[in-house]
Amino acid sequence: MNVMQTAIEYLKGVGPERARLLKTELQIHTYQDLLHFFPNRYIDRTQFHSLGKLSQNNSEIQLKGVITSIEYVEQKRGKRMVATFSDDTGSIELVWFRGHKWIRESLKLHTPYVIFGRLNWFKGKASMPHPEMELKEHYEQGVKAAFYPIYPTTEKLTQKGVSQRVIQKLVAFLLQEHAASFAETLPEYLLDHYRFCSKKEALWHIHFPTNQHKLIRAQQRLKFEEFFFLQVQLLLKNQQRKQKIKGHTFKTVGPVFREFYEQHLPFSLTKAQKKVIKEIRNDMGSGRQMNRLLQGDVGSGKTIVALFASLLAIDNQFQGCIVAPTEILAQQHYQTLTELLSKTEVGCELLTGSSSKKERVFIHEGLQNGTLHLLVGTHAIFEETVQFKNLGLAVIDEQHRFGVAQRAKLWHKNAVPPHVLVMTATPIPRTLAMSIYGDLDYSVIDELPPGRKPVKTLHRFDQNRLKVFAFIKEQIDLGRQAYIVYPLIQESEKLDYKDLMDGYESISRSFPTPQYQISILHGQMKADDKAYEMDRFVRGETNIMVATTVIEVGVNVPNASVMIVESAERFGLSQLHQLRGRVGRGADQSYCILMSSHALSDDGKIRLETMVKTNDGFEIAEVDLRLRGPGNVMGTQQSGILQLKIADLAKDVTLLKAARNSAKQMLKNDPELINSHHQCVKRTLSSMRLDANIWNFIS
Ligand code: ADP
Ligand code: MG
Repeated sequence: MNVMQTAIEYLKGVGPERARLLKTELQIHTYQDLLHFFPNRYIDRTQFHSLGKLSQNNSEIQLKGVITSIEYVEQKRGKRMVATFSDDTGSIELVWFRGHKWIRESLKLHTPYVIFGRLNWFKGKASMPHPEMELKEHYEQGVKAAFYPIYPTTEKLTQKGVSQRVIQKLVAFLLQEHAASFAETLPEYLLDHYRFCSKKEALWHIHFPTNQHKLIRAQQRLKFEEFFFLQVQLLLKNQQRKQKIKGHTFKTVGPVFREFYEQHLPFSLTKAQKKVIKEIRNDMGSGRQMNRLLQGDVGSGKTIVALFASLLAIDNQFQGCIVAPTEILAQQHYQTLTELLSKTEVGCELLTGSSSKKERVFIHEGLQNGTLHLLVGTHAIFEETVQFKNLGLAVIDEQHRFGVAQRAKLWHKNAVPPHVLVMTATPIPRTLAMSIYGDLDYSVIDELPPGRKPVKTLHRFDQNRLKVFAFIKEQIDLGRQAYIVYPLIQESEKLDYKDLMDGYESISRSFPTPQYQISILHGQMKADDKAYEMDRFVRGETNIMVATTVIEVGVNVPNASVMIVESAERFGLSQLHQLRGRVGRGADQSYCILMSSHALSDDGKIRLETMVKTNDGFEIAEVDLRLRGPGNVMGTQQSGILQLKIADLAKDVTLLKAARNSAKQMLKNDPELINSHHQCVKRTLSSMRLDANIWNFIS
């Protein structure tokens, strides 16, 4: 067995009690885990501050000095221990609020210490709570490095005496004793190509860098390595899936596809649409099952792509289905598609929860005898009773919902599974997609059809509301409609409701009946009332829709040209982008006005500025990723693979791309990893605990 797989309790200085803590608090189970437990920052070890010259700018610092006295001070609950720490130039107080006894026992008076910690300033006086203490004598015998590693740790560990110093010592010991067992993990040609340092060097310098340059080199290499193995795992998974799962082969582009393309297509396809259709054709002709994710912003024209994919299935004597998340969306798809197909022989029907028994019987018959080629609907399509003669393609239009479980059902309808195309309007940054969908085939429509007028976005402060209202009036006079949206955040539903009602009242005063009609929509209304209000707005009977964010997913009112978002600073970027997507659907210039108070957080300011600056969903998603980190970007929460140790998906984009390319190239040249250069990769892969969470899209 590899020494590095040794359980952590066997490391000198650990033992069963600390091992338990390291496991539960930091998920460190083995030597290997500890070695790969990376510092999240460093303290410059070459710098010592003089106690006489501390300034409020110093936060975490290193000091040299001696303890001259220790006393206990009574406080509200219990007492605190205070030590006076001095050097030649001055003194500060070191403070402990808990764990007095064993700390007191270990402290030596009038003996030189090197200490490190965060300064607290109170009334111009500095103190240091819970400093890390080390006798100067020990300090000087320790590992020679220019920086202290500071590890991400927990309060419980500190309380139980597993301080930064303790972790540092454990790591140092491991490095010194076992350096011989650190195996290289990357092929030599990659190290040469990127001029990376060896694994051994990287491990030393990530923990105890002797200078800044070495630290950066270590970080680069380890980040690359992390991305590289993530990509290799995903790509191998994809490779296996493709070998395992056979699919129907749609070789011919037949008369149905051709006739539609040449005679009935009402516009010419954008370059991006053509590219994606070609990718789908390749997939469906390959003999393997297609499992493709198609991303395209709202309005980018995904429906027509779904139609072309369906026509390809139909040309090869198969059926297709298109599944939408809500009944309204399914109806909209059905309308669009029947219109497009009206001059063709393609049979298309709609199946939803509210289809009548008679309709169902008719649909089941058509599906069985093959006269029905394309079925559009909601999840009702997944029901057991719905049996296709020959289902070749399932398109799943998710908008911004992710429902993984449901999809598996379609799978079982045939011996050979249908090809699957999942469409989503949630823009995910490319870098993120590369990591979490590395095992999926992935297409993007990154171009809007020509002639769209991009929505104009403005940021206005609350005191300008009357001007904004005047602007809405102008638009209503031109025959347009407006949305006014209030935030809805679960925890403060009552407060939000009050905001909404106050807003509604003031809007009603500014837009009096009978000249103006207003709809209102919020979460506390009955479903019937909601539908009624929505309907009036859709039909153009009301001018303004006042609503919380419960506005039905994907509702399409092309005549609405103004979107006002109240307290816009309280919305996340993806939500603002989705809200803005409700206007700009017609021929008229549309506007999105973001209202806020002057009290904006830094992030809030960036969010609003981003919205004003760009309409590009992917650009917005990139900013969202930077602001909130990968785990919070919409649609990725279910992905467990984002818990990276050292690499950062938002910041290390160049390394990610390089790692992905190298991984691809390697697997292309040597898919089975037989080549001797790749034995280190193979070994590393088999020693990695396979991440059970890697999100498999379909099964
Ligand atoms: P989404 O990607 O949001 O589902 P849709 O497929 O609903 O977008 O398309 C939005 C609108 O753009 C539709 O009215 C559609 O007819 C139109 N459209 C799609 N592709 C093109 C194109 N290449 N040229 C012009 N209009 C297009
Ligand atoms: Mg759509």
